[in-house]
Amino acid sequence: MNVEESFLRCTACDQEAEHVVVYAGRFVSQIQCTGCGAVTRLDVSEAYLPDLRQRISSKPRRLMRRLRRDPGELASSLPKSTLSKPGRMAEEFRTVWRSRRGR
Ligand SMILES: [Zn+2]
Repeated sequence: MNVEESFLRCTACDQEAEHVVVYAGRFVSQIQCTGCGAVTRLDVSEAYLPDLRQRISSKPRRLMRRLRRDPGELASSLPKSTLSKPGRMAEEFRTVWRSRRGR
């Protein structure tokens, strides 16, 4: 998960302000206005999961089914050799799943 700051117009308070932009993989999953604190969550699960599928494409389908059921559990159980940064991946999963529940 990457976090960047950028100067945007807030859709909540309509001010130009620094926004904290949270990425899950290549996708923007959350934007928070540092002016008023408003959080915009984007549901990236539809885009993120196929992307993730490519990133771990050597893994069998069974893993993808487990991923859809319980991404956090899968993230923590994947062999370290699969992912160079397992902790970062787990954080990505949590971010994506929060955006999904908020639907
Ligand atoms: Zn704002």
